[in-house]
This record gives sequence, C-alpha cells and structure tokens, in this order.
Amino acid sequence: MITKLIRKNILKLKPYTSARDLYSNGILLDANENSFGSSFQELEELHLNRYPDPHQVDLRNAVSRLLTIDAEKLFFGVGSDEIIDLLIRIFCEPREDQVMLLEPTYGMYKVACDINNVETVSPLLNDSFQIDFAEVEKYYSDKVKIIFVCSPNNPTGNLLNKNDIIQLCRNYNSIVVVDEAYIDFAPEETSLINEVANYPNLVVMRTFSKAWGLAGVRLGYCAADEEIISYLFKVKAPYNINALTRYAVLKSITNEEKKKSAVSSIVSERLRVEIELKNILAITNVYPSDANYLLIRLPNAKEIQKELAVKGIVIRDRSSQPTLSNCLRITIGTKEENDALLEKLKDILPLRH
Ligand SMILES: *Cc1c(COP(=O)(O)O)cnc(C)c1O
Repeated sequence: MITKLIRKNILKLKPYTSARDLYSNGILLDANENSFGSSFQELEELHLNRYPDPHQVDLRNAVSRLLTIDAEKLFFGVGSDEIIDLLIRIFCEPREDQVMLLEPTYGMYKVACDINNVETVSPLLNDSFQIDFAEVEKYYSDKVKIIFVCSPNNPTGNLLNKNDIIQLCRNYNSIVVVDEAYIDFAPEETSLINEVANYPNLVVMRTFSKAWGLAGVRLGYCAADEEIISYLFKVKAPYNINALTRYAVLKSITNEEKKKSAVSSIVSERLRVEIELKNILAITNVYPSDANYLLIRLPNAKEIQKELAVKGIVIRDRSSQPTLSNCLRITIGTKEENDALLEKLKDILPLRH
C-alpha cells in the first residue's frame, strides 16, 4: 500500500552515498575533512572537523530507549519542519497530488505544500475543533496523498479524538501524519506513537522544541513503519543532523527530570491562567487546552494584541485563521510572566465579573 503512494522518481531514486556511509573509523582520508582539527576550540571530544554519522545511530538508540520503540522506526530531522517538507516531497507529485489539512491548524503544513507546488484541501474541524467526517468526505479524493493531523492542535489547544485519527488511518488510502509537538502537556495515554506498529500509513511527529526546551537546537523526529523511514533516509540531506545538536539533545535526555518539572509547572500555570482569564468579562471564550498555550476570543482582538505589545507583553494574533476571528493565542510562561500578562490585560480590559 505504501509503495503505491510514493512518487515514482523517489521509488527509482539512487540516493547519494556519503563517505561516512561505508567507513567511520581508521585514518580517514576519504571526505576532504581537515585532519588538523577545528578552529572551534571548545568541545574537542565532539570531533567537529569530521562529518557526523548519517545513520543517526546515537539519536535513534537514545530515543528508542526513552520511548521503548524500535530504533528502526525512528527518523530525525532539523526540526519537525524538515520532516513535514520531506514527507510532502516523498508522497506528493507537484501540481497533481493533494494534501488534506484540518483547519484551523498549524500554518507550516500549507507553506510547505505551497513551496512544493502541491495543492491543499482544507475541511474545517467541527465546533469543538474535532474531526468532522462529513467535511472530510466532501474534500477527499484519491489525489490526497497525505492528511496532516495536529494533536494537540495548534492553535486551538485541544487533543483530537484518538479513535477518529485511527479511523482516518483505517478508512483512507493516504499517509496520516499526526503532529504531536505538544503531547507532553496532554494527559497520558493520548499519544498515537505506539500505533505505528499497527498502521503502516501512520507517521507520528515529535519535537525537542517545546517540552524539552530546545527550540534553538532544531531537532524533531518521527516514528513510522520501517518502509516510510527508509524513504526519509533516502531523500534527506546526507548529514542533516549536526554534531552540536546531537550533543545537546543526548545530554538533555539524561536530564528528563528537568523536562518533567517544567511540564508540570506549565500545566498547573495553564489551569491557573485559564481560571483568571475566564474572570475577565470581555473575554468571551477561553478554549480548553491540552498544550502549553491557551486560545481566547474577545472583541477587537487585533487592537488588544497591539496594546499588549506596547506594554511589553507579546502574544499571537490568530484572527486571520479559518473560524478564528478575534482569537489570540497566549503561551504559558513562568508565574511572573503570566502575572504580568494578566495584570496588563486587566488594565486594558477593566470590566470584570
Ligand atoms: C512548534 C511546533 C512544531 C515544532 O517545529 P520544530 O521545527 O520542531 O521546531 C511542530 N508542529 C507544531 C504544530 C508546532 O506548533
């Protein structure tokens, strides 16, 4: 089934074989590297004068242990953003195939499709921001090669029903990509990552940018059936993940406690801020969130966002997204940052219950 969905040029592609594919030990005179060492003097043990391992063995083993998932089912990209782009390039013939987006959702999927000249079709989520299968049916055809599902969804904040996503995998002859960038902030047992063993068309993406606090390091990964993983390796740039990124991420993984304590602080702050926002009369909706942000709706959202920015508080205007007129997205910060946000917001919106 997967083979049929792959673009013919990618099926036939003979990938670049890099120097480090064959040998990585010995007197290395095969890659035109600088044997005299790096001009960057720190972290000598990283051997930054050498190209990094293209097979991602260190990261695959570490995340395999962390999640108890087969290392063979993992692939790493320069942020999730690289994986989104690679998947489109593997499965979608430009100007022929389509990608389905469930709107409102993360904007990068559409941009990546536009760059690749792949058309998007966009059924809307229902009033509770869940999958509306009647809408999906209206837009689905066999041109749709990938369905992107974001859960918890950005910017609405909610998880999508797990059974609905499984229905997509079962009933549609397309790749279903579930973006779990925010899954650490959601209740346990809501991830689909263990389902990749059951559905060969399911890809689950994660990132180190949010809960792990490594947005500056640029590392994302996905779990999927080995066949899809093999195509991702075939099309990626040979040395996509650099040695500094690996060093930072492998060290962070040994400090999972720090991540867990940040997540629990963020979740408890989210509950507090949600209650405070609901007390502000002008705010008509505070949507339930399983992520590290809250979506709110209020009159004159654009102006409120600008007024807050003048007062030094920066939040995101999401008003221009489908069905989200007058909506703002607020990331949960530290207690002090959240207090500052609430104080300035109450200055601007004095009417309270
Ligand atoms: C932040 C975010 C990502 C992370 O992207 P990276 O490229 O890994 O930093 C992915 N998906 C969604 C929905 C996001 O909001």
